[in-house]
Amino acid sequence: MQKLIGIGAGVFFAAMTHAAELPRAVIDAEIERLYPQIEALYQHLHSNPELSLREEKTGARVAEELRKLGVEVADKVGGHGVVGVLRRGTGTTVLIRGDMDALPVKEQTGLPYASKVRTTNDQGAEVSVMHACGHDIHTSCLVGVANILTRLTNWHGTVVFLAQPAEEFGLGAQAMLNDGLFTKFPKPDYCLALHVNAELPAGTIGLTEGPSAANVDSVDITIRGVGGHGAYPHKTKDPVVLAAQTIIALQLIVSRERDPLEPAVVTVGSIHGGTKHNIIPDEVQLQLTVRTFTDEMRQQVLDTIKRIVKGQAIAAGIPQDRMPTVKLRDDFTPVLSNNPELVQRLAVVFKKILGESKVMKREPTMGGEDFGLLGRTPDKIPICMFSLGSVDATRIDESHRGGKPLPSLHSSLYAPVPEPTLKLGLLAMTAAALDLLK
Ligand SMILES: [Zn+2]
Ligand SMILES: [Zn+2]
Repeated sequence: MQKLIGIGAGVFFAAMTHAAELPRAVIDAEIERLYPQIEALYQHLHSNPELSLREEKTGARVAEELRKLGVEVADKVGGHGVVGVLRRGTGTTVLIRGDMDALPVKEQTGLPYASKVRTTNDQGAEVSVMHACGHDIHTSCLVGVANILTRLTNWHGTVVFLAQPAEEFGLGAQAMLNDGLFTKFPKPDYCLALHVNAELPAGTIGLTEGPSAANVDSVDITIRGVGGHGAYPHKTKDPVVLAAQTIIALQLIVSRERDPLEPAVVTVGSIHGGTKHNIIPDEVQLQLTVRTFTDEMRQQVLDTIKRIVKGQAIAAGIPQDRMPTVKLRDDFTPVLSNNPELVQRLAVVFKKILGESKVMKREPTMGGEDFGLLGRTPDKIPICMFSLGSVDATRIDESHRGGKPLPSLHSSLYAPVPEPTLKLGLLAMTAAALDLLK
């Protein structure tokens, strides 16, 4: 990374002939100045993770950091969300989002700043907590970009800094929208976000045009039967066997009913029923995650699940009053669709600062991300979330040569390399914002 030491931003801008030109050397100098502080913030957040809906201290820290910079701050927006507004004359409004929540994972990275946090979850069980999805990187970059933008003078417009809670529950973005994100605060013309990527080398960026993360639905199914003694199955209607048949039948949705060129996932992630070897229980609970890419396909897959669950129960001779129930949870996360024109515009910006080879086109994933909600209000605001490489390149080579597989996001072993990941996050997001604010 280039360094510009001893030359202040004012001097640089006086020498610039073209105000809209990217002040790369100035941004690099700002990042070098800021990096120790941002790395320390990152390590602090990593050591002190908070579960979804409990991001109280993280939100307070972000609010404090933004206030120190002179940014107008509103906290407790949609839970522990924070909104910072930085105005500089008239012009475009750009929203930059970072999410703050961590996961119930026991960290095993062995890092000196690894989390040792344990807490009691909402079900009363003791769990460990870890930033296994890199939201600590996102939050640190958000604060860092705010710092840099307050010091740069070559832009005008408004920047909204959004620190979002409860992304992992798919609830935070909606809660902030419900709490007036686009009405109480300046409504953005563009929304930007970054997410660490556990496969891309640190120092690279991935971009996906159009749908990038999937529709995510959680479905609860209760298969009901008529319980009794395990030795007299003919006196019962066994919900365990029916659950097993139903699970297999559900696998036929993707393999036999869907167009093979249109991706979908139906995963039964949880099955619970029964108490003892010799008792046929009255019911079995299933929990499913369903992933699709369009509204139409989503509806078709959900309808097919209901049809199959009911059909299997009828085939098993379950009495009318013991028919299964299928409940859709209301934490639906819709598809994240990156605006193609915005992606193309940012690709030019990123290639200019990094070179062609460091900016990759990425295929969509079946993962979920509630940032997409910001682009689905009636205003249809163009949004883009880009992927930030976070893995040591030699580790990637090793894994390709048959070595240890790379830990994925949400793994207890996922350890993004702070440098250059954080530096590139700061550089890329600053450059993206400046391009929209020039
Ligand atoms: Zn995650
Ligand atoms: Zn995430």
